[in-house]
Amino acid sequence: MIERINLKDLTFEELEQFILQLSQKKYRAKQVFEWLQRGITDFDEMTNLSKDLRDILQEKCFISCPEIAEKYVSKLDGTVKYLLALDDGHLIESVAMRYKHGITLCISTQVGCRMGCRFCASTIGGLVRHLTPAEILDQVLFVQRDLQERISNIVLMGIGEPLDNYDHVLTFLKNVNHPAGLKIGYRHISLSTSGLVPQMLTLAEENMPITLSVSLHAPNDEIRNKIMPVNQLFPLDKVIEACKVYIERTKRRITFEYAMISGVNDTVENARELSSKIKHLLCHVNLIPVNEIGERGYVKSETDKIHRFKIQIERAGISTTIRRELGGDINASCGQLRRGYSRQSL
Ligand code: SAH
Repeated sequence: MIERINLKDLTFEELEQFILQLSQKKYRAKQVFEWLQRGITDFDEMTNLSKDLRDILQEKCFISCPEIAEKYVSKLDGTVKYLLALDDGHLIESVAMRYKHGITLCISTQVGCRMGCRFCASTIGGLVRHLTPAEILDQVLFVQRDLQERISNIVLMGIGEPLDNYDHVLTFLKNVNHPAGLKIGYRHISLSTSGLVPQMLTLAEENMPITLSVSLHAPNDEIRNKIMPVNQLFPLDKVIEACKVYIERTKRRITFEYAMISGVNDTVENARELSSKIKHLLCHVNLIPVNEIGERGYVKSETDKIHRFKIQIERAGISTTIRRELGGDINASCGQLRRGYSRQSL
């Protein structure tokens, strides 16, 4: 049996090639691309195509669309969390957060994750599989349709390590930014990585002004090794070196994420060590009181300690914020919902 093509897996240029191979005019590709990114789920909705072309597409291709497994709306701040089921039944999470400047959608890039960060719920069952470019885009299309509102910003901070699924993530970024699609500007997109150095360096060469967030969570290798196994592959100094290259190449400010974990990485001395390593970089530090995941036994730092940590970093001239907790009543942080769901269904 010939496998049918998920058209949202193709870049615009690949779609043009595909349409040409069907002996169709090239401009048809733009029409198809526009329909796909309007979130249609049936070829018959592509009303400006001939019936013949729609039939050919129907025969050779398909349009993916996730289904809602669960949806929660926070009563505190309107955050909406989706647990979505993919075609093969695997579950991913997407979270829509309301800010003054619009809706930011946090999306997943893999089913599970193999980075193994000790404090993170997404990684508990390991990596199941990569998401396809279509499945990454589908989260944006689906949530936009469900909320009937435009998504203005995207953060790749849901389940998975985006740079471990590099090619699919790149196709997604190009497609979501494309003038014939949702046109979400690269400056409105953030990608978070646990620090995969080779891919960070490749990304620096893409000439794509997205914001790179790097999950540091520790001021030295000793602490980072304990909470982030990936540090054994790419130690802190190498990650910071890659950040330097990224900043020089893209002229973009990097955000360092730092989960505050009581008794692990939250002393003023830790803050001093961290700031001495990053103060020469164009960067911002985002402190995140760690979300306490049942299985992990990590506890968030006391508010006082977080503030003292912040002041110490700011002393080195580095801008620092403490992340506001959104959706606290709906388990809105990464991996918690999928984890809870699979536990219930055991
Ligand atoms: N794999 C990527 C992106 C996914 S996680 C990365 O590691 O950056 C997005 C952010 O949430 C990362 O900074 C991650 O370290 C952090 N995170 C994961 N679990 C957390 C928890 N329990 N509390 C606070 N932050 C957490």
